[in-house]
Amino acid sequence: MLLEADIKAQLNQYLQLMEGDVLLKVSAGSDETSRDMLALVDELATMSSRIKVETTELERTPSFSVNRVGEDTGVIFAGIPLGHEFTSLVLALLQVSGRAPKVEQKVIDQIKNIKGDYRFESYISLSCHNCPDVVQALNLMSVLNPNISHTMIDGGAFKEEVESKEIMAVPTVLLNGEAFGSGRMTLEEILAKLGSGPDASEFADKDPYDVLIVGGGPAGASAAIYAARKGIRTGIVAERFGGQVMDTMGIENFISVKKTEGPKLVASLEEHVKDYNIDVMNLQRAARLEKKDFIEVELENGAVLKSKSVILATGARWRNVGVPGEAEFKNKGVAYCPHCDGPLFEGKDVAVIGGGNSGIEAAIDLAGIVKHVTVLEFMPELKADAVLQERLYSLPNVTVLKNVQTKEITGTDKVEGISYIDRETEEVGHVELQGVFVQIGLVPNTDWLGDTIERTKFGEIVTDKHGATNVPGVFAAGDCTNNPYKQIIISMGSGANASLGAFDYLIRN
Ligand SMILES: Cc1cc2nc3c(=O)[nH]c(=O)nc-3n(C[C@H](O)[C@H](O)[C@H](O)COP(=O)(O)OP(=O)(O)OC[C@H]3O[C@@H](n4cnc5c(N)ncnc54)[C@H](O)[C@@H]3O)c2cc1C
Repeated sequence: MLLEADIKAQLNQYLQLMEGDVLLKVSAGSDETSRDMLALVDELATMSSRIKVETTELERTPSFSVNRVGEDTGVIFAGIPLGHEFTSLVLALLQVSGRAPKVEQKVIDQIKNIKGDYRFESYISLSCHNCPDVVQALNLMSVLNPNISHTMIDGGAFKEEVESKEIMAVPTVLLNGEAFGSGRMTLEEILAKLGSGPDASEFADKDPYDVLIVGGGPAGASAAIYAARKGIRTGIVAERFGGQVMDTMGIENFISVKKTEGPKLVASLEEHVKDYNIDVMNLQRAARLEKKDFIEVELENGAVLKSKSVILATGARWRNVGVPGEAEFKNKGVAYCPHCDGPLFEGKDVAVIGGGNSGIEAAIDLAGIVKHVTVLEFMPELKADAVLQERLYSLPNVTVLKNVQTKEITGTDKVEGISYIDRETEEVGHVELQGVFVQIGLVPNTDWLGDTIERTKFGEIVTDKHGATNVPGVFAAGDCTNNPYKQIIISMGSGANASLGAFDYLIRN
C-alpha cells in the first residue's frame, strides 16, 4: 500500500466529489518506480468506481494520463505525483471528472479561447513547494482546452532526461520543446505570458482612486483592507500578488497562527482583500510615479492610473552577488531557492554564498541532499545565529570559507566552479562544483521611483511615523521602506499604519 491511512481517508472524501468517470491510461515497465506507480493507480481504482485503468504506451515510462472516457485530455503525470504534487493529482481527477474548477468564469473563457497547439512539459521535484501551482494551472488548461496538453515530469524519476536537457531549477516549463518559464507561475501569469492578458485599454477608463496601493504583498494587502474599510475608492496594482510570501515555505511567527505555508497565507490574504470593494490589478508593474493634480502611476503597459493618495508597498527581492557568471548561469546551476532546487543537486557539490541566517539554513538543508557544501562568507565571521552555526559545524560534508570575496562563477554551458579571493592573503582560490546558491539578503524594489521619492543609500524609501514620504500624499510601507525589520507581521502593521496615514491626509486635504 503506497498511501498512508490518513491520506487515504482524505482522498476518499475527495474522490466522492467526482462527477463522471475517469480513465487512467498507464505506461509502466518493470522498474521500481513503475511498480509504485501501478500500486498507486490500482489503489485509486479500488477507492472509486468512477476510476478505470487501462495499460498503454506513452512517451515516457513510467507515466499515466488522466482522461475522460473516450477523450484524452492531455494531462499526463510522468513519475509518481505524491509529495507536494499529491494535490495536483487529486485536482486533476476531480476536474477531468467534470467538477468545476475554482477559478473565475472570465479566466475559464480565456483558456477556452486560446487557439493553436500548446504542448507543455513541466519539470518538477516532489519537494518543491513552488511547483504544484504551475502543474495545476497547466493541467487545468489541458482539461479545458483540447489544443493544450501538459506532462508533469518528476526530475527524481527522470534523472537522465533532466541531465540531458540541463534542467537545474524547478519548476522549469517547456512549451513545444522550447523554454517557456521557470519558477512559480500562477494561472494568470501563464495566460499573460501566452499573450492573453489585459492590455492598456482595459485601464483607460478607470476613475481616479482615493488610495492606490502599489504592491500586493502583506503590506499592500493590509493597506488596501484598511483603506477599503473606510469606504473610499481603493485599488491595488501588483506585479505578483502575495510578494515574497509566495516563495516562503514554513511560517511560524505570524502571530496567532502556529504554523502555515506561504502560498496558504497568500490565499487567505487574497480572499480577505476580495471580500472588499478593492480594484485588484494583478500582474501589472508600475514603471513611473509623478505628482500632478492627482498622483499618477504609469504602468509598464502604458496605462496611467490616477489617485489622490498612493501607498508604495513594493517590497524587496533577492540580492544578486553581481559577479561574472551569476546572470549567465541563472537556472543553469545558479539558484536562489534551496528548498525548490536543492533536490536537483543530489549527490553533487554546491556552494552557498552568504553566512547569515538564510545562508546557513540553506547550507544545513543542502548538506542533507548534496555531496558537499562550501559556504563563502565575506566577513571574518559568520553572522548566523549561534544555534545554526553549531548545527552547521557538526555536519561532516560542509566547508566554511570566511573572509572571502566571490570573484566569479565559472563554467561553459552550466556552473562548473566558483573562484574567490581570500581577503587577508589576496590569494585566489577555486572550487569545482555544480551549483551555487546565492543567499546574501534583499534589495528594495524601488529603482522605478528614480529621484521622485526620497530614498536611503540602500534604496529604501524614507518614511515618517505616519508612513508618509517626502511627497505629500505618497505613503510607503513594508520591506521597501527604511523600517529596520523586515517581517510579514511588521509589513502588515506598517501597511495599516500607512493606510490610516493616507486617510488622515485625504480628510485634511
Ligand atoms: C524565503 C523567505 C522566507 C521568509 N520567511 C519569513 C517568515 O518566516 N516570517 C516572516 O515574518 N517573514 C518572512 N520573510 C519576510 C517577509 O516575507 C517579508 O518581510 C514580507 O513579505 C514583506 O512584505 P511587503 O508587502 O513589504 O513586500 P513583498 O512581500 O516583497 O511584496 C511586494 C509586492 O510588490 C510588488 N511589486 C514590486 N515591484 C512592483 C512594481 N514596480 N509595480 C507593481 N508591483 C510591484 C510585488 O510583486 C509584490 O506583490 C521571508 C522572506 C523570504 C524571501
